[in-house]
Amino acid sequence: MNFGTKILHVGSQVDQATGAVSVPIHHASTFDQRGTSKRMYDYSRSGNPTRSTVEEVLAVLEGGSRGFVFASGMAAITSVFALFSAGDHLLVTRDVYGGTYRVLTKVFSRFGIECDFIDTTDIDNIKKNVKSNTKALYLETPSNPLLKVTDIKKAADAAVEHGLLTIVDNTFMTPYFQNPLELGADIVIHSATKFLGGHSDLLAGAVVAKEEKLCDEIYQIQNAFGAVLGPQDCWLLLRGIKTLKVRMEQHQQGAMAIAKWLKTHPLISKVYYPGLPEHQGHGIIKEQCTGFGGVVSFVCSREVVTKRLMQDIKIPVVAVSLGAVESILSYPAAMSHAAFPKEERLSLGISDDLLRLSVGLEDPEDLIEDIKVVLSSIG
Ligand SMILES: *Cc1c(COP(=O)(O)O)cnc(C)c1O
Repeated sequence: MNFGTKILHVGSQVDQATGAVSVPIHHASTFDQRGTSKRMYDYSRSGNPTRSTVEEVLAVLEGGSRGFVFASGMAAITSVFALFSAGDHLLVTRDVYGGTYRVLTKVFSRFGIECDFIDTTDIDNIKKNVKSNTKALYLETPSNPLLKVTDIKKAADAAVEHGLLTIVDNTFMTPYFQNPLELGADIVIHSATKFLGGHSDLLAGAVVAKEEKLCDEIYQIQNAFGAVLGPQDCWLLLRGIKTLKVRMEQHQQGAMAIAKWLKTHPLISKVYYPGLPEHQGHGIIKEQCTGFGGVVSFVCSREVVTKRLMQDIKIPVVAVSLGAVESILSYPAAMSHAAFPKEERLSLGISDDLLRLSVGLEDPEDLIEDIKVVLSSIG
């Protein structure tokens, strides 16, 4: 089956008991245990039928053996980091999501888990930074907000050589464009709040892994920590995933048109989009993905341009988050990367004039016109 068919027909998306074509939302916290036959479910933290359906769908889409959904992307990420123990060391993509940076440096550091934030686009640099206690390589590709691309296969090969697990945050590409497990990763993570949910109405996270033993460990942690996704939100996530293919195609088409247009404007000094041939990772992304995604970042030539865009733009919401049906304009310096010390942020190339646009499903020509009107009002 191809992707567009799978998203609608894998898993128990038709209710076995009634034939209902929409999965029932099982609000039960507990399940009656009387009688001889052992029930599949006993308590909703440990397992819930609505949750099982979305976990099954995600496992299939990512090509893993089991999926797990969590109350947020950060709950998923935190639960994966809980696989490690005091004394372990992790290598992490340098321009990782701000919340991931925060939980590692402020929380897991207190539990004795060390990490180094490194440029993972350079495979030799990964190898050079492996220590005797390094246990995992944590990648975000394309990274946020500069969309730097890491070669997942080469990185995972290097990780295997050193006995490390490879973990990939696949939020920006989704399984529609990128399948890290097929490229050698062991664990895939999502903030399902973004493209998977897709409608700015849900906070959710997901983890998919391949190897059974690893899946058992992740399940242990999911059940132990209990940061699970509630049944109502599981249903919303399932509903979002049904249109993932058409949405991703449209996000990408819009992003490409806007990236190309921004490049021609004198008030925009740099455009970051992996679909542009001059982008750092264009060659790799063409190899490892089937698309370039729906997020474009760009640098404004002057402070006034940045300010006016955020103030006067009409169609996109000016907010954090991405991957929604509506376009979202974000200001990384004060939003997603506020957790980074300023020096560190600037050295990553996240300047005070960088904006990130998550291109929604609006007609791209309307979005371009909207930006154009603001820019032409600046003297
Ligand atoms: C938003 C995001 C997260 C965190 O997810 P939440 O659902 O907000 O907890 C993690 N990684 C990436 C790449 C993100 O964009």
